Amino acid sequence: MLDRYKRQISYLRISVTDRCNLRCTYCMPAEGVVPMSHNDILSYDEILDLVKVAVESGINKVRITGGEPLVRKGIVSLVEMIAGVKGITDLAMTTNAILLDEFAKDLKTAGLQRVNISLDTLDPDNYAKITRGGNIQQVFNGIKAAEDAGLWPIKINCVITQSSDEPDALMVRDFAERNGYEIRFIHLMDLENGFFEPVEGGDGGNCAICNRIRLTSNGFLMPCLFSTKGFSIREMGINEALDEAIQNKPESGGKNPEGNFYNIGG
Ligand code: SAM
Ligand code: SF4
Repeated sequence: MLDRYKRQISYLRISVTDRCNLRCTYCMPAEGVVPMSHNDILSYDEILDLVKVAVESGINKVRITGGEPLVRKGIVSLVEMIAGVKGITDLAMTTNAILLDEFAKDLKTAGLQRVNISLDTLDPDNYAKITRGGNIQQVFNGIKAAEDAGLWPIKINCVITQSSDEPDALMVRDFAERNGYEIRFIHLMDLENGFFEPVEGGDGGNCAICNRIRLTSNGFLMPCLFSTKGFSIREMGINEALDEAIQNKPESGGKNPEGNFYNIGG
């Protein structure tokens, strides 16, 4: 479906949980967050119903994200459910890869095509600092498992604070290039103050070509990461919420002081 600015909306990002096994400094407070009640979190059947309707409206690409999607129980079965929807031609997941070693094979069998993996440094101590306790070896194991399972291409999401020439970014670029992974540099964003820049190596952050809508884990369809607008599929019904989300996409992002990456699915 076209939005008001004649952008073809074809990409749905689904946040399946607000929970995470890391606490990245730019994403979550150190003490974590009060998790949503289980009743508020959409069931897999509710997500599947939305995907089926979204495909009718022109969605053909789906990304599963979070929070950390691999901490949600039964995530492989959700992948299988979505992969079974006719019309989805690109099914990907964004993950911190901490648990990917365990899940990669099953995800591939279930129909996941590829993964984006978040990695901001190659230095174990720095990684632990940025993620507040993460073990980088688990990420390396997860990446290897994804490659072995045939989840391909592998894209590395690297958040940068200044530029893609900063030391950590250069290390991650080198790691990606050595292994044949794609690399995308994401400038640190600030939802509260409306700061974002185009993703280097990706399509994100470029409003003129934005083709996305987002589903939060509690069932709100969001037209834009940088907008407070959200339309509840439970309250409005799927068709109306979807229509409103697409028609309310702003020409360009503003601010979202109420928003959080771990819920909207960065
Ligand atoms: N937990 C998964 C992960 O980290 O890959 C998926 C969800 S995470 C919210 C999705 C992406 O958002 C990650 O690549 C993360 O680096 C990015 N992100 C989180 N907070 C951000 C911020 N303030 N600015 C830019 N990117 C951010
Ligand atoms: Fe968790 Fe991903 Fe946020 Fe890091 S960026 S705290 S891994 S949801």
